[in-house]
Amino acid sequence: MDLKELYQEIILDHGKNPRNKGKCKDFTNDAKAHNPLCGDKVHIYLKLNKEKQIEDLSFEGEGCAISLASASILTELVKGKDLSFIKKITEEFLNMLKNKTKITINSITPDQMTTITSLSGVQEFPMRVKCATMAWHTLLSALEKK
Ligand code: ZN
Repeated sequence: MDLKELYQEIILDHGKNPRNKGKCKDFTNDAKAHNPLCGDKVHIYLKLNKEKQIEDLSFEGEGCAISLASASILTELVKGKDLSFIKKITEEFLNMLKNKTKITINSITPDQMTTITSLSGVQEFPMRVKCATMAWHTLLSALEKK
C-alpha cells in the first residue's frame, strides 16, 4: 500500500467511524461552526480542568467524510493535552494545509503523526481545506470562551 492509499484509508475509517462523537459529560466550553460551501456542521464540546488540560472532549457533526474525519482525528489527538500543546499542534496543522509545511511537533507518536498527516492530501483542493480546518478553528473558539 502506498502512502496515498494509507492516508485515504485513515480518512475513510475516521469518516465512517468518528471517534468521540456526542456530547461529553460536564463540558465547560463549546463552540460550533458551519461551512455553507459544503454543508458541513460541527459542534465541539470540551471539559477544561484546573491544570488547563482538556480532560475530555467530543463533537457532534454532519457533513462530508473529510470534515468528520478531521474532527475525529482532532479529538483523538488533543484529549488529555494541555493548552500549549493544543495551540502548537493546531497552528502546525493549519499551516500544513495552507502553506504545505510539515508537522514538526515531537510530542506525538509516529502513528499519530501518520494520522494527522493523512489530511495533508486536501492541500490540492482549496474547497476541501475548509472542510478539514473547520473543526480545528472551532476548537480554538471553544477554548477562547470564558
Ligand atoms: Zn465538507
